[in-house]
Amino acid sequence: MSSPPVDVTTAFNSVGTPLKGPVPVSKLPNVGTTIFTTMSVLAEEHGAINLSQGFPDFDGPPELLAQVNYYLTNGFNQYPPMMGVAPLRQAIAQKVDHLYGLKCDPDKEITVTAGATEGLFCAIASVVHSGDEVIIFDPAYDSYDPVIRLQGGVPVHIPLTGSSFSVDWQCVREAITERTRLIIINTPHNPTGSVWEEDDIQQLRELVSDTNIYLIGDEVYEHMVFDQRVHRSLCRYEDLYTRSFVISSFGKTYHVTGWKVGYCVAPEQLTLEFRRIHQYVTFTVNTPVQYGLADFLQAQPEHHLQLPDFYEAKRDLFCSLLASSKFKIKPSSGTYFQLLDYSEVTDELDHVLAERWTKELGVASIPISVFYQDPENCKHKALRFCFAKDDTTLRQAAEILCKL
Ligand code: PMP
Ligand code: GLN
Repeated sequence: MSSPPVDVTTAFNSVGTPLKGPVPVSKLPNVGTTIFTTMSVLAEEHGAINLSQGFPDFDGPPELLAQVNYYLTNGFNQYPPMMGVAPLRQAIAQKVDHLYGLKCDPDKEITVTAGATEGLFCAIASVVHSGDEVIIFDPAYDSYDPVIRLQGGVPVHIPLTGSSFSVDWQCVREAITERTRLIIINTPHNPTGSVWEEDDIQQLRELVSDTNIYLIGDEVYEHMVFDQRVHRSLCRYEDLYTRSFVISSFGKTYHVTGWKVGYCVAPEQLTLEFRRIHQYVTFTVNTPVQYGLADFLQAQPEHHLQLPDFYEAKRDLFCSLLASSKFKIKPSSGTYFQLLDYSEVTDELDHVLAERWTKELGVASIPISVFYQDPENCKHKALRFCFAKDDTTLRQAAEILCKL
């Protein structure tokens, strides 16, 4: 067996001490710790109100917690099936049928994953070969680009345009080549809160109809769409679904991001390949949480219907509290994120500002330029704030921000 390539230079740890042993040649040499971890750690260190990393500061539904606790304490603690427990896959199948009119076979088209993150990884790995091009839209969720590169693929970044962060379809058409293998769609969109309209779907249909291009729908915020908007899942459109991996996350829907359980819905031929990879990435996902989720989906199948109003009220509260501030409030049509344009407060770079305000003001946020291939292409002076927080937390943060 040949040994992997080894760098000749010595590596140093974060405080400059040389590290012993061989140093791997990194497949992701330009990647540091994610912005979410960086900002949450900084917020913790400085006791700041953490509106950076996207997670609620309230708990999931008590009935769900009780069900998981039941399974945990009643012997449901060994390996579940590789694709996920049957009752959960059946409940997911009912949900996508009810919501999006997709009739899918839970045994052949649904796989439970370790969060959407694992789903995204396996979906990308299922179709991207060395040299394949993958179109992603900037600002792009942070895992897409590195995972594409890990497969030897080439991420093709296309900036979303205008203050509403929409897709420039002409630009997409021009970016398609014979190497284009995949387009990753994220609606509702993190970090901007933009939501696809019907015209986007029509444009996508025309673009891919005579091609072998696959699609990933990152739909983790599927239940958080505001102002009477509709979530346009790729599950709704038969012609698009036949080439799609649709990914979602129970972490978002039930306020339990730390459980890391999500799923992938994909037609049989794509699920077959997806599972080949999933079985060697995590093999499966913890048993008691899967059974607890299955019971909860069965008992309260309409629970998610509360989410748009619940989060819309939080968005509106946060924005109304900031009405008298110097921030310009960007439209947020979905997700639990709000972009605030700070150009009338300061002309600092967003990542410098996010760090400084965490330390000095005690409010942590996320700079959005880090979601661009080249941060300099980000023409917006904006920070992302997570409003999935108790109203008291939002009031405290807004009071501080209004003093600027
Ligand atoms: N995609 C997007 C757009 C996200 O915002 C997140 C996380 N918040 C994920 C994927 C990953 O979800 P999970 O925590 O279930 O892995
Ligand atoms: N998706 C979450 C966010 O956007 C963070 C997830 C993570 O920390 N990896 O804030």
